[in-house]
Amino acid sequence: MDNRFWQEEDEAVELALNWAKKRTVSGSDPKTTAHSAEYLREQVGQTITEEGLGPKEALAIYEVLSESNRSSDDPMNFAYIPSAPTRAAVAFDEVVSAANVFGGIWECGAGSIYAENQVVEWIKGYLGWPDQAIGTFVSGGTYGNLSALACARDKAKNAWQQAGTYPDGRPQDGYKLIISEETHSSLEIIAKVLDVDLLIAEVDEKGRMSGQAVEELIKDHEGVFAVVASTGTTNTGSIDHLESIAKVCSNHQVWLHVDGAYGGAGLLAPSVRRLYKGIEAADSFIVDPHKWLFAPYDACLLVYRSPESVYQTFSQHAAYLDGVDHSQSNPSDMAVHLSRRTRGLPLWYSLATYGSKKYSQAIETCLNYARQCAQAIKASDHLELVMEPTLSIVVFKRKGWDQEDYDKWSHDLALAGKLLCLPSSIKGQTVLRLAFLNPNTEIDQAIQMVLETTK
Ligand SMILES: *Cc1c(COP(=O)(O)O)cnc(C)c1O
Repeated sequence: MDNRFWQEEDEAVELALNWAKKRTVSGSDPKTTAHSAEYLREQVGQTITEEGLGPKEALAIYEVLSESNRSSDDPMNFAYIPSAPTRAAVAFDEVVSAANVFGGIWECGAGSIYAENQVVEWIKGYLGWPDQAIGTFVSGGTYGNLSALACARDKAKNAWQQAGTYPDGRPQDGYKLIISEETHSSLEIIAKVLDVDLLIAEVDEKGRMSGQAVEELIKDHEGVFAVVASTGTTNTGSIDHLESIAKVCSNHQVWLHVDGAYGGAGLLAPSVRRLYKGIEAADSFIVDPHKWLFAPYDACLLVYRSPESVYQTFSQHAAYLDGVDHSQSNPSDMAVHLSRRTRGLPLWYSLATYGSKKYSQAIETCLNYARQCAQAIKASDHLELVMEPTLSIVVFKRKGWDQEDYDKWSHDLALAGKLLCLPSSIKGQTVLRLAFLNPNTEIDQAIQMVLETTK
């Protein structure tokens, strides 16, 4: 007799894993599109019941619902920042779930944390950071940015308090954080959460912030505790002048955080590496593996140059945590989190499988797709390139089109499952934006489709 508390376990496991395997191998249908909640209610109704539906029916319901999820890894998806994980990484995410390791502290997850730390060491090599640098994986760029800046503010507070600059470490007019007009929208939320004010630095015609713009703001305002520089803005892929910004930050003892959620991956690409000069002097850095490092949702790799202020900011203390050995490298001591899955492992497995060189090649491939596409747009009569791509994002216009034309074109192609490209805007002007993050994209086919469907 089977005495297990949960019934039909074996069948539930088999059904779910088979579904996952099929999806991992074959990808999803690009024609899938979001439906309204009313439509879905009509289709599947109430799914949580007193007696349960059994695994077969529950999975059949998910089949219906999944048609309402957009395929973010389709090779013809160029909207937002698409996700293009290797199948190896996706499959390993299922291993991470099955292993169900508590990844917050070393004594619970040493083996998996060791593998995650291998990835941290790997990225440190590209950053040119010292041995003492530490890092962990959080859920996304928003949490990575939040954690880095919480640490920066705590460090400034302690330093100002100790030096007697401000009695309680808090500047009279509050803490100030410098970003640019092009910095990611998550920073506005982070400023609210941390209760700090944003100072907005000007950018040049290519959307880049410079050391001079930062210097002017620091001179005009008291209480600046950090600067956020972007290596790859989300809208255009622009990279700030890290070298001059790093110099100014170092002169004024201000924390430099580099947001590379999307474009940090470009560090691996020799053809653009020079644009990252100065990153070796930053205090913290993030890159999202679920963006351009070919891993599935969700993961952000967060690295700090120096461990002291990190542990001081994030180590949690309580009776039930007293036994935790804080001499070990505990991921929970490095960010705004405690319980965590070891979400760095899908990237680790894929990197360990293919090797670093393959990753550099995959990123160079995407950069080349963007350059080819920009070239074709320039050569066409009806399209206009808005700016030369810095990384793998191409922004362009269709001569004579207004907002309505752009929306219709984008909507029709999306519904047909042919190509996903959404309008964006630059300085108030509507543009089309293609983000190339998938080395499996058939670039000739994609370019041809853009050229022909916009005629
Ligand atoms: C996507 C992005 C973020 C936010 O990352 P999430 O993983 O979506 O939380 C932050 N900064 C930049 C530059 C981004 O592109």
